[in-house]
Amino acid sequence: MTTESPPDTARRARAVLSGLDQVLPDIDVLYQDLHAHPELSGSEKRTAGIVADRYAAAGLDVTAGFGGHGVVGVLANGPGPVVGVRADFDALPIAEDTGLPYASTAVGGRPDGTTVPVMHACGHDLHTASLIGAARLLADRRDLWRGTLLLIAQPAEETMQGAKAMLGAGLFDRFPRPDVVLAQHCAVTRTGMVHHRPGIAYSGCRNFRITIHGRGAHGAAPHWSVDPVLLAAQTIVSLQGIVAREIDPGEMTVVTVGSVHAGTRPNIIPPEAVLEVTLRATSEAVMDTLQAALERIVRGVAETGRAPRPPDIELLEHTIPVDNDAAVTARVRAVHAELFPEGDVIDLPTANNGSEDFAYFSSWDGVSIPATMWFYGSTAADRWDAEPGDLRERMARMPGQHTPFYAPDRLPTLRRGVETLVGAALAYLPGRPS
Ligand SMILES: [Zn+2]
Ligand SMILES: [Zn+2]
Repeated sequence: MTTESPPDTARRARAVLSGLDQVLPDIDVLYQDLHAHPELSGSEKRTAGIVADRYAAAGLDVTAGFGGHGVVGVLANGPGPVVGVRADFDALPIAEDTGLPYASTAVGGRPDGTTVPVMHACGHDLHTASLIGAARLLADRRDLWRGTLLLIAQPAEETMQGAKAMLGAGLFDRFPRPDVVLAQHCAVTRTGMVHHRPGIAYSGCRNFRITIHGRGAHGAAPHWSVDPVLLAAQTIVSLQGIVAREIDPGEMTVVTVGSVHAGTRPNIIPPEAVLEVTLRATSEAVMDTLQAALERIVRGVAETGRAPRPPDIELLEHTIPVDNDAAVTARVRAVHAELFPEGDVIDLPTANNGSEDFAYFSSWDGVSIPATMWFYGSTAADRWDAEPGDLRERMARMPGQHTPFYAPDRLPTLRRGVETLVGAALAYLPGRPS
């Protein structure tokens, strides 16, 4: 791998980025188009088509429809390392309420036939627009690097299916296998800020659907029933004892029951109740402990309450933690620190309790590839500067991701998103001998 010093890498990055002012207006148009036309996880047909067209226009070898709506672009530029760069492009079932002129009014169909409003509330449209901007600039200045760029545009991140689908389709066998994989996620900190964290950056996640079986009856005859609503209530309360009493307090763990459904009327005891639960932990070993406790409590409460049969416990979706390689994180951070003004590169104090299926690009089917994912701010500078408090206190007060109000300050965020990607990619793509 390259042994170039970070200042020298930053010099090449500045030369590549000298074309950014020219490209940015077009990337902004692309971003607003993606934002106004969000698509649910697994339904990103239009978005994938746009990405494929943009890759082709930049001169990449394009493979579309790879692992669902995944799009892979390869830019081979002589002997050298293979650098994978991944961006996701799915949106969320949320009704946008930002009031922006390019706000989404889109709806999407769900597998059960219902329709829901859709919004880019996680900023995946930023990731994809910036990836395309970086691809164009790096393609335009092939004289400044050598090696191979593998650009991975991923669907279905929010459902934790997309990375597995692309890797399962043979991403690392059908294309040049990357020596390093890079990705970024926008955050609600100030635009321009870039945050790195070696080691665990995102927790692992397992989501479950639990169906508690009871026996329905007239609401006035509870003694003829086995009430699944009571069992659900007892289960929810008992689950809170897992983190409080079974896990080392030094471990970051979460047990959240995010959905409870049972019954239709006050005077009918229904036959079943359905809970949906998410577990978060920063290691698979602790996650196994959480899951075992969840299963034990769910079954135990049902048995104690005379349930006619054990509950069904279904694993809906899951991802392992994002574990950033220390050396890769340090190298990318050093280049970013050279490129950006003092005070913009601020390390993350703790891991994010959220989850990201980017984790699988560094660990898949026995293949380990060093990887790092960093974060970059998207809140307007004046809005951020007006808030008192430390980084975490301010973050808590910003219009957050996964809410109807997430409205990135688009031009500075897109700009920084391209700059971070170009700098990071060049950290592993060496220069050409002059
Ligand atoms: Zn998200
Ligand atoms: Zn996201």
